[in-house]
Amino acid sequence: MKNQRNNRQNVSMKWNRRGWAMVLLLLFNYTLFAGIANAEQSTKASETKTVYLTFDDGPSKNTSEVLDILAKEKIKATFFVLGQQAESYPDLVKRIVQEGHQLGNHSYNHAYKPLYTDFREFWRQIIKTENVLNQIVGQRPALLRAPGGTYGNFDASYFEHLGQAEFIIHDWDVDSGDSKRSNVPAAEIIKGVKSGPLKSHITVLMHDGTGHSESVKALPTIIQYYKNNGYQFAALTSEVKPVQFRLAQKSKWVKAALSPEEADRMMMQDAASWPDASLSEVMNRSLPLFVRFGSATWQLNTGEYQMIRDQFYVSLRTMTSRMGGEIQWDGKQQTVILKVGDMQAEMNMIKHVAIVKRPGEENMEVSLDYVMKDGGTQLNLRDLMDIMNVKVLSYIDDGQKREVTVE
Ligand SMILES: [Zn+2]
Repeated sequence: MKNQRNNRQNVSMKWNRRGWAMVLLLLFNYTLFAGIANAEQSTKASETKTVYLTFDDGPSKNTSEVLDILAKEKIKATFFVLGQQAESYPDLVKRIVQEGHQLGNHSYNHAYKPLYTDFREFWRQIIKTENVLNQIVGQRPALLRAPGGTYGNFDASYFEHLGQAEFIIHDWDVDSGDSKRSNVPAAEIIKGVKSGPLKSHITVLMHDGTGHSESVKALPTIIQYYKNNGYQFAALTSEVKPVQFRLAQKSKWVKAALSPEEADRMMMQDAASWPDASLSEVMNRSLPLFVRFGSATWQLNTGEYQMIRDQFYVSLRTMTSRMGGEIQWDGKQQTVILKVGDMQAEMNMIKHVAIVKRPGEENMEVSLDYVMKDGGTQLNLRDLMDIMNVKVLSYIDDGQKREVTVE
């Protein structure tokens, strides 16, 4: 828990299909472009502050009390449940759903070693839990929380595989500290929450599993604290940008080898159990992506790009060579130097930020959202466009064709 890091700053506007549509609208008026940065900031300031309370390791006997408190306060929350517990307390799983809260998957039995030394076991537990929840409430939740959080437990391949299967992985901003040891007193839990940052969106980690009666005691005060600070409460949804810890430099676990092909095969066997998965969505994954720029068209095939929750992530190496540029890796600084023409971008992969330099121009800062795939970096296409200082003209994804036109 001590190792937890802050998630990357959420400086970028959510870049989904609506995002692209918005850009198209804005393009009708080029003069608006200069104002985007300011406009984004002012929207942020007036945005409602939101707390996402999350309860892990349940359901247990404590869960009904947590639900009573939430009902009394008229607020919604998210429960990352264990499959094993759900089997023991099916009625509480039903109550969570009936009362409008969100269910998430937290593995079947929470046993770190088997879960984190072999992705096969992690996958097996996630699917097993899904099947349990599907039996009880007919839901296969897309939201997933790694037992113990992702930091030091997940490596890039876990993110990659689970992203492929369209799970949405949520870590947290504020750890209430209620699972540091057994029976952490309520006063200490409240103190833990109050020492957390008060930013516009906060995901708070709490527990409603066995042995967490002190968390129940602390809950009313925690709710009051956020209310006093002007927050509204909400359950997580698939629309909420998840808080994710950065990849640790070193994993706590030695993981069993698993080739991407084997992982794909294994996951495809359970494709029917993927959250919200339909076969057409799965088939869709194999479409190439075309990026049109002037008279040039760059084609990215499966493996060179991927779509994660409506956002394109493109292979940095492939795109750079297609654009006639080059990349160098400065391992010491954890920085990738990207050069295309007279543009140079210093991409700090740890800080998730690029400094873009062009002769005669002021340096520009671009936030970086990327994923690792097969040892290569896949950068959010939108961020790459920002670095290249090009604008999106149109975007087609009609199930037959995926094409982005830029200028
Ligand atoms: Zn847990």
